Amino acid sequence: MYHLGIDVGSVSTDIVMLDENMEIIEKIYLRTKGRPIRAIQQGFNMLKDKYKDEEIKSVGTTGSGRAIAGFLVGADSVKNEITAHAVAALELDKGVRTILEIGGQDSKIIILKDGIVTDFAMNTVCAAGTGSFLDRQAERLEIPIERFGEYALKSKTPVRIAGRCAVFAESDMIHKQQLGYDPSDIIRGLCEALVRNYLNNVGKGKEIESKIFFQGGVAANIGMKEAFERVLNKEVIIPPYYDVMGSIGAAIIGKETLKKKKAKTNFKGFNIADSKVVSESFQCKGCANRCEVVKILENGKEIGCFGDMCGKWTERLVV
Ligand code: SF4
Repeated sequence: MYHLGIDVGSVSTDIVMLDENMEIIEKIYLRTKGRPIRAIQQGFNMLKDKYKDEEIKSVGTTGSGRAIAGFLVGADSVKNEITAHAVAALELDKGVRTILEIGGQDSKIIILKDGIVTDFAMNTVCAAGTGSFLDRQAERLEIPIERFGEYALKSKTPVRIAGRCAVFAESDMIHKQQLGYDPSDIIRGLCEALVRNYLNNVGKGKEIESKIFFQGGVAANIGMKEAFERVLNKEVIIPPYYDVMGSIGAAIIGKETLKKKKAKTNFKGFNIADSKVVSESFQCKGCANRCEVVKILENGKEIGCFGDMCGKWTERLVV
């Protein structure tokens, strides 16, 4: 029997399957590309020949597209990312006090005490430091993102990069490149700038206590871990499945929800991979962000929205 967890973010959609001992037996990472339904269907296509619907005992969803995902798959729980990340970290270590999480397009900090979330902050507006920002800088420097950390560790004299926001960091980095600085010094400088930016914005006013977990796709970059450790002067731990902690948390919450209710799963089955779902997009003019909001329709009926930075459209349907 298995427990499914789905984390639908604006950059990636992650699906995990846990066994009864909470061990990961499947881990799927897909690009959302503005089409979360399609990403989930793709993931289910990869699973439907390997597992039977009856083998799924529970399913939980999280992430900015959690409501849509929940409706589509028949989720037993639909929870925000803060709770999902905290639950996954606590499953590994009850003593975790701080979670630094940096994903594809947003970042967050979660503060815990005695296994309970006492404070958190999220940054969905400034892109500096997020995965997509780092991807773009890697492309600009013509260095694969997977090697960014290795380059950063080689540097002896990091270049100071202005990291106040993505636009400043990028233009300052280009300037330093033009001046002929060594790429490893630029990359280390960039990691330091992004860590400073994160701590000044997301981490502002927060007590960062050990044990500290670093989660999200950006934790793959050892240069960022090292920069955090240097600035905080504390050990930073990267958990083994740092990149799918949200979906692991969602799977655990789904399991616990059913256990409490003593109910059976609502899982609709892997065949939703073949159902007819369409999406259309519109631009929200609610503020200067002008978000490209994606509306999901099943047989002509709206089942959810995706892509709004503030939650104005998605929250109408959040369970
Ligand atoms: S969805 Fe929210 S953040 Fe985006 S443009 Fe509309 S009001 Fe602004």
